[in-house]
Amino acid sequence: MRMWMIDPKLMCIQHIVGEHRELHALKGSLERTKPECNNYERHIKNIITLAKEGFIDLKSLKSRHEELVKHIENHNSPMENVPTLKHLPKEARNAKVDKEKAVKDIIDRPEACRPVGCCGDKIKDET
Ligand SMILES: [Zn+2]
Ligand SMILES: [Zn+2]
Repeated sequence: MRMWMIDPKLMCIQHIVGEHRELHALKGSLERTKPECNNYERHIKNIITLAKEGFIDLKSLKSRHEELVKHIENHNSPMENVPTLKHLPKEARNAKVDKEKAVKDIIDRPEACRPVGCCGDKIKDET
C-alpha cells in the first residue's frame, strides 16, 4: 500500500484511481490494528514498515481521499469513520510520505501510467 501525495493535477487517471484504492485498503488495514483484532500486532508491524519506507501519511487519509475523488467519476466509496491512530506507535502516527521518492518512482515507471509516461510528462512540465 502506498500513498503518492502528489498534486492530482500532475497524475494520470490510472495513478489517481490506484492511490484511491490503496487509501481504502489502508483504512481496512488500520482497522485490523485494533487490539481486539486477531493478529493485530502483525498489522501494526506492516503499518510501521510502510511508515519507515515513507509510503503513508495516516493523518491525511481522509483529506487525501477527498482530494482524489474530485478527479474520479462515479465515485461511490465514502471514506467514513477512519479509525483512531491513538494506539499506534508515534512513528506510524506521524508518518509522512517521502514525496521526492514518490515522484522519482512514478517517473521511473512510465509503463504504470495511462497513457504511458503521463505522470512523468506532467511533472516535468511543471518543474
Ligand atoms: Zn473512495
Ligand atoms: Zn501515472
